[in-house]
Amino acid sequence: MTTKSAAAASRATVHGYPRQGPDRELKKAIEGYWKGRVTADALHATAAGLRRDNWQQLAEAGVREVPTGDFSLYDHVLDTSVMVGAVPARHRAAVEADALDGYFAMARGTQDVAPLEMTKWFDTNYHYLVPELGPDTVFSADSAKQKAELTEAVSHGHTARPVLVGPVTYLLLAKPAPEVAADFEPLTLLDRLLPVYAEVLADLRAAGAEWVQLDEPALVADRSAAELNAAARAYRELGALTDRPKLLVASYFDRLGEALPVLAKAPVEGLAMDFTGPAASNLDDLAGVGGLPGKRLVAGVVDGRNVWINDLKKSLGTLASLLGFADRVDVAPSCSLLHVPLNAAVEREVNPEVGRWLAFARQKAEEVVTLAKGLSEGTEVIAGGLSANSSALTSRSSSQLTRDPVVRARSQAVTDADARRSQPYQERAAAQRARLGLPLLPTTTIGSFPQTGELRTARADLRAGRLDPKGYDERIAAEIRDVLAFQEQAGIDVLVHGEPERNDMVQYFAERLDGYVATQHGWVQSYGTRYVRPPILAGDISRPEPMTVGWTRYAQSQTSRPVKGMLTGPVTMLAWSFVRDDQPQAETARQVALALRDEVSDLESAGTAVIQVDEPALRETLPLRADGHAEYLGWATESFRLATASVRADTQIHTHMCYAEFGDIISAINDIDADVISLEAARSHMQVADELAAAGYPREVGPGVYDIHSPRVPDADEVASLLRKGLAAIPAERLWVNPDCGLKTRGWPEVRSALENLVAAAVTVRSEVAGR
Ligand code: GLN
Ligand code: ZN
Repeated sequence: MTTKSAAAASRATVHGYPRQGPDRELKKAIEGYWKGRVTADALHATAAGLRRDNWQQLAEAGVREVPTGDFSLYDHVLDTSVMVGAVPARHRAAVEADALDGYFAMARGTQDVAPLEMTKWFDTNYHYLVPELGPDTVFSADSAKQKAELTEAVSHGHTARPVLVGPVTYLLLAKPAPEVAADFEPLTLLDRLLPVYAEVLADLRAAGAEWVQLDEPALVADRSAAELNAAARAYRELGALTDRPKLLVASYFDRLGEALPVLAKAPVEGLAMDFTGPAASNLDDLAGVGGLPGKRLVAGVVDGRNVWINDLKKSLGTLASLLGFADRVDVAPSCSLLHVPLNAAVEREVNPEVGRWLAFARQKAEEVVTLAKGLSEGTEVIAGGLSANSSALTSRSSSQLTRDPVVRARSQAVTDADARRSQPYQERAAAQRARLGLPLLPTTTIGSFPQTGELRTARADLRAGRLDPKGYDERIAAEIRDVLAFQEQAGIDVLVHGEPERNDMVQYFAERLDGYVATQHGWVQSYGTRYVRPPILAGDISRPEPMTVGWTRYAQSQTSRPVKGMLTGPVTMLAWSFVRDDQPQAETARQVALALRDEVSDLESAGTAVIQVDEPALRETLPLRADGHAEYLGWATESFRLATASVRADTQIHTHMCYAEFGDIISAINDIDADVISLEAARSHMQVADELAAAGYPREVGPGVYDIHSPRVPDADEVASLLRKGLAAIPAERLWVNPDCGLKTRGWPEVRSALENLVAAAVTVRSEVAGR
């Protein structure tokens, strides 16, 4: 295939790059700073070194315009709040005293001051800090970080394009500050915010930016007419500025839909659009609006969120059809490469057959360079790349790894009845009450206890052969005994074994399931300095042997109180992995569910009375547009039920989901038919309890009363007042007392005090209920 050459030569670019460095140097420097072991200067020097290396890597790959400002010490939305001066009143003193410490205080809180709320960035596993705004918010421009990073890139000899969160997305992601009426709409602040963006844009132009990118991913979700009008107004006004760089408005994660005509008409010089996955229909929609005459189109044809090599030939076809639509067509990944690991070439332990199918950030940068070259100069000049790509694609589609006939047959035989519990909830609840004999307002935790340095050392020693498996198991057993002893002594009712044997709740299972591939260095930022290594769903999934029964049985043998069996649900197993893109997700989810179903049965046979199947990711993978919800929720809830429905009436199924906003999936939460659900609620002041009550949720609920994302320890009064709020929505017979999420990221001293306070609060509120 030969493509006609573009009017203007195509360039390769990226919207953003992984921040952490090849060995997570950024995490180490920031955490060192928090502990007082690294100075602010040293932290800034590490960060600058990482930015320099990233730009250099991109330039060496052939990327002609590098992004700046996408880098962050914690989160780019928090950086935007700083840029527009939206520092909450409670953090102002800290920020004024020391900008860096104040920044981290907003992100993590301090003993006295709560942090900003954190939530998922669209349907990814990246978390951002939610801007807190109100009618009295006064914005003011602070372009220091953006300017400094641009200047840095330019001084290293690069052509650079600052990337900012756009004003509409910023406001749409914001929430009313806690002291403000809950129905306050941040978007009403647009007129106040635009002059601040105007100032930042002028500053960036003065600092040498030809182009500035404004990211508006919020425009790929369903938007009201008022919101679309706001977007139109924002870009009309920014476009009309005289002292400004060229504007590239970027969208990703889905199609622009009704926002496309708005942006196509806007007086901006370029649009970046996603043409992968559900966003592929952007291509037809572009034709529908008559293209983008006179504009630059940055075409996201390489999936920025997954790890599979691109189908270069197919992408060239897409790019060729886009050529007629714009003045100039540049090539990019669909979104920031923040969502994929840095470099597939360092994965020496991955089966080389699979290794050929993988592309991480570095490889994706090379792919967009190859595509831009092919588009500008003709496919002959990339013939070698094309033929290597096509043989790797063939090897994947014909590999034994990707097709297991036994798994396929079992999955095809699943019936609707397999995914339904045999007794209605009321019967189950009675049987469970009789078996478990729990007090009112039972206390429990979400599963993990602090992952101590000793545990990490033991794991590293095991890997390095310094510790044999028997020695490792002894350490795990000792840890389980300690965790159980603490819980008994603290007076917790339903215990957990603490998950010390698990490095990560998805990875642990992935390592025990056939069809999954693990990486050694494939770190991806989840939030702040927390990085995860998502495993890769490469082939058909099966369970060679029980995965959790041994430790669960051991834990139960140490105590007379019930110990929860603890599994990760099918939706989360997909959401926090890199999924197959060669079969529907519904099929992958069903395969995982069947493997978990066998584990649930084995746990039940081993005497486990309470089994928790965590689905913290159910909400975050909800398609951004409503027309995709029903299909997704259909397979998501079916797979949960398929994993859990085989149990007896008196076996209590718990689930846990960690997010505070789930209004749109409340019926799905009901559909999964779990006996008990625990949810994050502390930071959002128990709002979830009200929402569940309003929806008539009939089963038991544990809205979190301890925010585990912060080192802050709540006292018993604070927990008790959250519980009273919970009781206002949910009757005492159905209310559980638990933290927001697992405790693995916290330290023992905080956890000890917080859980003691939590139990004390439960005791107080129990007696208030009894006294009524
Ligand atoms: N059981 C898991 C834990 O406690 C749940 C974690 C999560 O929801 N993210 O760590
Ligand atoms: Zn959680």
